[in-house]
Amino acid sequence: MSAKRLILFGPPGAGKGTQAIRLRAELGLAHLATGDMLREAVKNQTPTGKLAQSFMDAGKLVPDDVVIGIIREKLNALAQCAFILDGFPRTIPQAEALDRMLAELGAPIDAVLSIEVPDELLVERGVGRLTCSNCGAVFHERFHPPTKSGVCDVCGASALKKRADDNEETIRGRLRTFHEQTMPLVAYYNEKSLLRRVVGTASPDEVFASLRAASGI
Ligand code: AMP
Repeated sequence: MSAKRLILFGPPGAGKGTQAIRLRAELGLAHLATGDMLREAVKNQTPTGKLAQSFMDAGKLVPDDVVIGIIREKLNALAQCAFILDGFPRTIPQAEALDRMLAELGAPIDAVLSIEVPDELLVERGVGRLTCSNCGAVFHERFHPPTKSGVCDVCGASALKKRADDNEETIRGRLRTFHEQTMPLVAYYNEKSLLRRVVGTASPDEVFASLRAASGI
């Protein structure tokens, strides 16, 4: 395996979560998703969770120092393993902090995999999205319904829910935030020759194959 430390990049609804779960299950990569960590903190009403909740509900980014703080600990533990970052970094200051943290650990990023999907399809995907609150698997009311309503086909839990931030207004807000604050990372990683573009409108199997081809894993 040549590429080990990967960033899965893309707008909300591009399929990062779905693909990260497959990369974890089939290739044994550790999966670090800041959105999942923040949702867990909100559920447990920790100080971080209380701070993050209003930003998340509004489709805005949680402040950089909070997110960098939660990922730092995990990276220290996992830097020498193969891992995939999902939903981080989302701003230039986060990317710079990540570079510094990984330089200290002697474990630089090998590739940034950018999953590209047009905005209108992202809204459709987001509005019908169902997420398993037990294992994180993602379904869709119309495009990818579960076999049994409300039940996750992956882990069997009766835990399929609409995320609180999956309504049209918040989704459009998340997309605006993505274009304004996260898109500059494309140029940032392109300059470092780390960016690999993948068409995200194909089936999940095809996207998975493209991601493997693009990263050499
Ligand atoms: P996600 O599950 O990746 O769609 O993230 C859900 C929400 O968590 C986002 O809309 C943000 O409010 C917050 N969030 C997740 N990752 C980050 C990050 N790297 N920086 C700032 N906010 C984040």
